[in-house]
Amino acid sequence: MTAPGATSACRCELGRAHRHLERAMAELERACLAWGVWADSVRKLAERRTGISVADGLALLDDPEYARALRLGTWFDDAVAAARSAREAADAGWFTVCRRAPADEQ
Ligand SMILES: [Zn+2]
Repeated sequence: MTAPGATSACRCELGRAHRHLERAMAELERACLAWGVWADSVRKLAERRTGISVADGLALLDDPEYARALRLGTWFDDAVAAARSAREAADAGWFTVCRRAPADEQ
């Protein structure tokens, strides 16, 4: 999960930002998984309540609670997608440019 890179080990603020990004990515992926488990339980309740199976087509989407649960999922997906594109930039070397000026040393 952790993309190894020069910046991850660097003690500068860019390295620190990179490490936070890695942790955020892992957390967002876990958030997505947890949302999925929850949404599946909402689906099961909706199927029981309406007598409509999700396997029957799109009819279950008319159930407001299930539709709402799926709508919530798009925000989790968006968050993961944004973090993933930042990680791809890190993997491509964008974060390995450490340019801390000597004057910034403490
Ligand atoms: Zn650095």
